Order: sequence, then structure tokens, then C-alpha cells
Amino acid sequence: MKERPLILISNDDGIEAAGILSLAAAMDGLGDIIVVAPLHEQSAVGHAITMRDPVRARPWPFRVPSGQVTAFAVTGTPADCVKLAMDKLVPRKPDLVISGINHGPNTAVNIIYSGTVSAATEASILGIPAIAFSYCKWGGGDFEASGRVARQIAQRVLKGGLTPGILLNVNIPDLPFDDIKGVMITRQARSKWEESFAERKDPYNRTYYWLSGTFVNLDTGENTDVFAVENGFVSVTPIHHDLTAYSALDSLEKWNWDITE
Ligand code: MN
Repeated sequence: MKERPLILISNDDGIEAAGILSLAAAMDGLGDIIVVAPLHEQSAVGHAITMRDPVRARPWPFRVPSGQVTAFAVTGTPADCVKLAMDKLVPRKPDLVISGINHGPNTAVNIIYSGTVSAATEASILGIPAIAFSYCKWGGGDFEASGRVARQIAQRVLKGGLTPGILLNVNIPDLPFDDIKGVMITRQARSKWEESFAERKDPYNRTYYWLSGTFVNLDTGENTDVFAVENGFVSVTPIHHDLTAYSALDSLEKWNWDITE
């Protein structure tokens, strides 16, 4: 008899975040669930890993509607969580790794800063189909519609798999489920953050800086992740960790690379 699928769940908002509770609840019944997530929030740590400190994994009470599931809170980053889970914590190789549901969008350039996406990327590097889910609202709202969307997308990936090395970055608009228009397959919008560091003084009169900024979409395309969520669609962007700029290979090959000159 084929074993039930094993689904590993992580995030970057921390093991007590509402989004990971909703994501695990949404997966209830699709397979066996194991949760390995950061003890504390790790938003915007990107693909950081912990190398100069020990990493600890503490068993954690975690409930889904059908009962308790195995869970660990880890003193590390999202990428640490997936690495550690795969090496030491999972009872067998997971069939799917999902990350989220992040509280806030991970569209456009934000993918590169996202711990949520990095948990899924780490799984993809390790050869497991993976999906990152984000709910496109900063603070407040609820994860009900996002959970329903996540369940359906996870079911499709469990059934059909993904091309090795490719993962899905899913952004869900802040709408009631019935108002979501459908799924759009998208590319990353070109964007940037216009940053300004607030400059203040601490009680000892030393200057400190605190990052803040405004997201700027530079892309008018109608097939982008930002366009999709702004227009009521779930955005599904296939991404990969291979950073090679293939379009530049041919032209660079034509340069003179003689370093003996
Ligand atoms: Mn986050």
C-alpha cells in the first residue's frame, strides 16, 4: 500500500503565526503533516542560514482540525528549518514542502528578500516539490480564502508534481474566496523599493538608522504577479534558484577574455 503523502510545512513569520496555523489546517486530510518552523519571526531574512551558532529544535504543540501533528520550533531561519527537517526531523522524504501563509505579498523584487520563499527554495534545492504562499495584506485580515486556495494548489502539485528545480511562488489577493477571479500564471514584475532610513538618536546619543521604504512597481505588463493580485487573481509564478543569466552567455562569450595581455 502506498503511504500517505508527507507534507512538510514551514514559514518565516514564526511557528505561532496565524498564517502557518491556517496553512496546516488547510492541508488537513491531504496527507501526514509535519511542521518545522522558526521559533521567532524571520521575515525578510532571505536565504540566510545559521553557521556560527548552534540550532535547536524544540517539540511544539500544534493542532489541526483532526488533531495534533508533529511540530518543531527551530532557533534559526526558514532555510535552516527545511535543511534541519530534511536531515534530522522528518520520518521519511516529504512529497511536498509548503511555506507560509506569509502575512504580506511576496511579489516582484520581494521574492529575493523573502524568508517564506526561501524555505520553499531550499526544499527545491533538495529535490522536493515546493510551494510558497503569501496573503497580500500587510497586517489584519484573515487567512480563510488563502487557506482554501492553498489546499487546491497543493492538491494539484501532489498529483502532478513539478519539474525538478522549479517551485511555485503563490500570491493570494485580499478578497473573500468567492470574489477571487481565478488563477493567473505570471512572471515577476520589475520593481524596486525607494528606501529611506529614518535617522534617530538612542538614549546614549548615538545615531541609529531604521529601514523604511515604499514599494514601486516599474512594470506595466499584464502578466506580472503584481498585476494579477491587483486585479483579483491568484498569482502563480514558477521560479528557480539557478541565478544564471542565460541570455547573457552568448554575448559574453564573444568578449576577449585573454587575461595574459
Ligand atoms: Mn513574513
